[in-house]
This record gives sequence, structure tokens and C-alpha cells, in this order.
Amino acid sequence: MKTPSRSFVDIYCGLVARPRSPKGRARETATRLSAEYPGTAKELCELDFENPFQLLVATVLSAQTTDDRVNQVTPAVFKRYPTAGDLGSADPAELEELIHSTGFFRSKAKSLIGLGLALDERFGGEVPPLMADLVTVPGVGRKTANVVLSVGFGLPGLPVDTHVTRLSRLLGLTEATDAVRIESDLCAILPPTAWGAFSLQMILHGRRVCVARRPRCDQCTLSDFCPSSQAPTRPAASPYGPALAPVEVEDPVQPPLAGAQGPLDFV
Ligand code: SF4
Repeated sequence: MKTPSRSFVDIYCGLVARPRSPKGRARETATRLSAEYPGTAKELCELDFENPFQLLVATVLSAQTTDDRVNQVTPAVFKRYPTAGDLGSADPAELEELIHSTGFFRSKAKSLIGLGLALDERFGGEVPPLMADLVTVPGVGRKTANVVLSVGFGLPGLPVDTHVTRLSRLLGLTEATDAVRIESDLCAILPPTAWGAFSLQMILHGRRVCVARRPRCDQCTLSDFCPSSQAPTRPAASPYGPALAPVEVEDPVQPPLAGAQGPLDFV
């Protein structure tokens, strides 16, 4: 009698959880996280802002700090510099003082002044709603640009931060380690309408449940199909390794990498 293949046995015995493809897992992840963290990208974003310019400033300030901390300083920043032109002509010392508590204040002040100048001189003081234009603005890399597109303009955009990177790999949605490749892989298997909210839902899940050093698999809505789950009911060993393997410090404070375009490109 012919011996069934291992994969057949696994599937037949339920040892490999459905869905089994990266695309299937990505879509099931999006569905379940949408139930857990409902809302649009704008509704899920925890930064306070009233227009794309304010969102861009807040996003630059959010590098390596918490959204709460940013929300504490932005009212004064927005009041002092209501337009891109105002920000572009800011006195560096005064701006540094206002944003000091967000960390990396010298680098952030420099980015914000350059950003204000560029928007004022090249885009009529407005934030352009195009990736190709946004990434030419000082301090703006793909991650920041994707935040502005998805949260500020309601357009497709999938920001990849440390949580999105870590969870995507744990869930077997990608094997890439580079943020641009991860963004490309995720965008290829998710509908554009889901990109922005998916990113923010992964970030919330990474902060609240799939925390870096101690993933709470027993409380995770994805545990029945996550290849890295360590929940007690999980029957099969993960081909991606245990949930604790790709350890990262949650919201780590790191110096900028060489070649980074701005504070949000530290990851
Ligand atoms: S099952 Fe565990 S490893 Fe997988 S996403 Fe949930 S918390 Fe993270």
C-alpha cells in the first residue's frame, strides 16, 4: 500500500492549520484583526492631527517614541508653525525646545525645517498625495509616506514598521527582512483597500498581544493558524520557528541606520 505523503497526513490529521498559504493567512489575519481592532486607517491612527501637514509633522515626531508623547507636544508645534512655510523658517533652537521630549530632537528639528521648506518651495505649501513626490521631501521615507497616504488621504499605503515586520514573519506572510520587500510582499496578497488599516491593526496587535519577548499566543485571535503559535492547542511545530525566535524589543530606541531618509526610516 502506498504511504501517504507527510503533507497529506498533516493535512488529513489537521496538523497544518488552515489557511496554509501566505495569501490565505494574510487575508484571514486582516479579517480577524478587523474584528478585533475595527476602523479605517484614520480611525485607528492614535496621532492627533487635523490635516495631512499636521499628520506628516506628527509622524516624523513619532519616530522612536510613543504616540501619546507626540500628542503632548504637537498642539504647541501646530500653533507656532501652522503652515509649511512657518515650519521652514523656524528657528532651530526654538523648535528643538518644543519637541525636546520626543527624543532625537536635533535630528527631528532638522528634518521638520527641511520638510517645511521643501513643501513650501516645491509643492505650494501642500503635502503631495503621491509616493513619488513624498519621498523627495527631506525626512520622509516610504514608511512616513505610506502613513500620510493611508491615514491622511485615505489612499492605499502600507507602512511597514518593526511590529509589521515581526508579525508578518511570525505569521508566515513573508520571509523577507527588508521593509521594502515586506511591503511589496504584503501589498501583493492583500487588496489595496485593506493596506492602511492592516498595517495599523498589526501594530496594535504587536503592542497588545503579540508582544516582542512574550507573545500572548493563548490570547491571540490568530493562534489557530499562526505557524509560530505556542498556544497549548497548537498541534504542529512551526516551520517558521517558535514564536519567541525573532525577538525584537518592543518600540526599540535605536540610532538611525546609515542611509536612512528620515527619523521614521530607522527600522
Ligand atoms: S499566535 Fe502567538 S506568535 Fe502568532 S501572532 Fe498570535 S501572539 Fe503572535
